[in-house]
This record gives sequence, C-alpha cells and structure tokens, in this order.
Amino acid sequence: MAERSGPMKWLRGMMLNHMPLMITCREFEDFILAYLEGELPGRQRFVFDLHLKVCRECRDYLAAYRRTVAVTKRAFDDDDAPVPDAVPEDLIKAVLAARDA
Ligand SMILES: [Zn+2]
Repeated sequence: MAERSGPMKWLRGMMLNHMPLMITCREFEDFILAYLEGELPGRQRFVFDLHLKVCRECRDYLAAYRRTVAVTKRAFDDDDAPVPDAVPEDLIKAVLAARDA
C-alpha cells in the first residue's frame, strides 16, 4: 500500500491551517468587495494581496469580478447596454446583491 500523504501535502496543510498570513480562496472571495472599495485595513489588504500573488484562480476571479462591476455600472447608466454573455450570471447576481446590501 502506498503512502499518499507525503511531506508536501502535510506542509501545505500546515500553511493553510496555521500560518496567519494564509487565507483560503473562500475567505478571499469574502474580502473582494471590501478590497475593491478600499475598505480593507492594512493587514488584511496585505494578506489579500499575498493570496493574489500565489493563487492564479483568485487572480482570474478578481479580474472577472472587476469586469462585471464595470459592466453592471454601464448597464445601469444606459438601459440599452447589453450585458455580454462572457460574464457569468451568478457573478452578476452577487454584484447586484452587494449593491442592495
Ligand atoms: Zn485562491
């Protein structure tokens, strides 16, 4: 029987669970709105930027989120402006929900 949890996996778990500067992708999502509005305190902003540096998925997510915010802003300024198909619908809903909050 092969041992499947090697030292690298253990190290990764340690970093995620015990290093205070590491946040999960889920936590990253929670920070996005505050980040874009410049409301993150310095330390959280640093942690956020750090995750952004190491996590390509979240970089892509943030870029898509920014595009969506820009698109929905235009859409509200001009009723005729179409929302591009490229923007995921659940992302638009999340942005709209944040607006109403
Ligand atoms: Zn991530």
